[in-house]
Order: sequence, then structure tokens, then C-alpha cells
Amino acid sequence: MDGIKGKVVAITGASSGIGEAIARHLAGLGARVVLGARRVDNLKGIVAAISADGGQAVYKKLDVTDTEDVLAFANYAVEQYGTLDVFVNNAGLMPLSMVNNYKVAEWHRMIDVNVKGVLHGIAAALPIFEAKDSGQFVNITSVGDRWVGPTSTVYSATKFAVRAISDGLRQEVSGNIRVTLVAPGPTESELAETISDPALKQLAIEKFRTDLLPAAAIARAVAYAVSQPADVDVNEIVVRPTAQK
Ligand code: NDP
Repeated sequence: MDGIKGKVVAITGASSGIGEAIARHLAGLGARVVLGARRVDNLKGIVAAISADGGQAVYKKLDVTDTEDVLAFANYAVEQYGTLDVFVNNAGLMPLSMVNNYKVAEWHRMIDVNVKGVLHGIAAALPIFEAKDSGQFVNITSVGDRWVGPTSTVYSATKFAVRAISDGLRQEVSGNIRVTLVAPGPTESELAETISDPALKQLAIEKFRTDLLPAAAIARAVAYAVSQPADVDVNEIVVRPTAQK
């Protein structure tokens, strides 16, 4: 796809689900991808598969809650490939629960990964983009960035925050830096594994057992935004399974 070949794309949370699909799809389209997450064994396997298919990929262990780690991750992309064109803030978790279950540690964890992790990504990549006056953020939110339901209060709050951050950032940065928000509906991934309440986890799995989007559908949305000419900034893409209204 024109507009993707040769681009250097760093992806957080690339060890499974949507992040992995973005890495595989963009590498297949000729991007040079840099994968980050904590599960290094997964990253190694994905990078090996991309390389075996003729793609270019490297990985670095990454914890997005650690500012220095995220800085080192963005800089690693530049060290490996000489530049950084796209930074995908994808890492996230979704330990759904009712507020009056007081899973305070999980609230903190969601805020640390889903919100602070994105801010760390911006702080790491924006100076690189500003120095060359070009670059693109792709921030993965959720349909929960505009919708709240029981058990999703804190998760949705983190995604509302990322939507606000994305909109503000887009208006603050120079004219040549792009900010794209991609909001997936229910998608095949390991996300439900982060729900600690067994009954709620079962409910979530059953509720979304059918009509899940393949992770590749979100990867295609990201590819669409990244492939646009430099003067076209796709601000938002919302992707839902057709059967879910
Ligand atoms: P997965 O659980 O499959 O992937 C989550 C990724 O985030 C993993 O690669 C995980 O890697 C990474 N991650 C978690 N914590 C950290 C951390 N501290 N530092 C670095 N990486 C971390 O779920 P999805 O693919 O579904 O999730 C990706 C994004 O998509 C999330 O932001 C999620 O909110 C969003 N989303 C998902 C939807 C769905 O239905 N699946 C719907 C809407 C939005 P590791 O554990 O190796 O660190």
C-alpha cells in the first residue's frame, strides 16, 4: 500500500491481539516495525514470523508505565532504522468491575497503562517528530471512549481520557504531525484475561463470544490512516462488528 512502505512504525502492546495484528499487517505492507511489550517470548516469535515472511521487524522489552522505558523504546526505533514515522499507543488492559467492588489497585493499573502509558508514548515520540516536523500518532481507544455501561466506568474513563488527549494533541502540534484515534468495538484478543472477577470474565466472554471483530480488521483501519498522503489527517476511525448496533 502506497504511503506505508519503508515507514518506521513503533507499536506498544505488540505481544498479542490488536498490537500483534497491526505489526504483522503493516510489516506485510512494507513498514519497518518495532514491537514493544513485556512478554519478550511472544515478541520474539512474532518478529521471527514477520522476518520469515520477508518483513522487517525488531522488538524491545517495554513497560509503558515506566517513562524511561518508553523513551528508550522510541529511541530504539531511531537507532535501528534511522527514524520514527508512526507511534502506535496500543497497550491497554480492561479489568472490568463494578465501582462498589472497590478494586482500587485495578483502577490504578488501568490509569497507569491506558492513560499514563499513552502520555509516556507522546512524551517519547513527539520530540522526534518535532525535530523532523513530521510523524503520526495512532492512539487505540475503544468504543468505550464515547460510551459507558455498568462495569466499564473506570475503563471507559481511561478511554475518554485518551480521546481527549488525542484531540488536544492534534490541535497543539505543528501542521505536519498527525494524530489518529482508532476506536475498536469488541475484537478477538486476550483482553478479557485482564478481568479478575471470574463471573464477570465469563459474562464478558459469553457476551462477546459471537460477532467479534478479527484483530486484522483494526490493523486494516490503522493501515488506512497511515497510508494517507501527508496532508490528510484521518482524525478518528470507529470500527464495530456489523451485527452490533
Ligand atoms: P490484548 O490483551 O491481547 O493486548 C494488550 C497488549 O497490551 C498486550 O500486548 C500486552 O503485552 C500489552 N500491555 C499490557 N500492559 C502493558 C504494559 N504495562 N507495558 C507494555 N505493554 C503492556 O488485548 P487487545 O489487543 O484487545 O488490546 C489492545 C488495545 O485495544 C487496548 O488498548 C484495548 O483497550 C483496546 N481495545 C480492545 C478491544 C477488544 O475488544 N479487544 C476493544 C476496544 C479497544 P504484555 O502483557 O506482553 O506487556
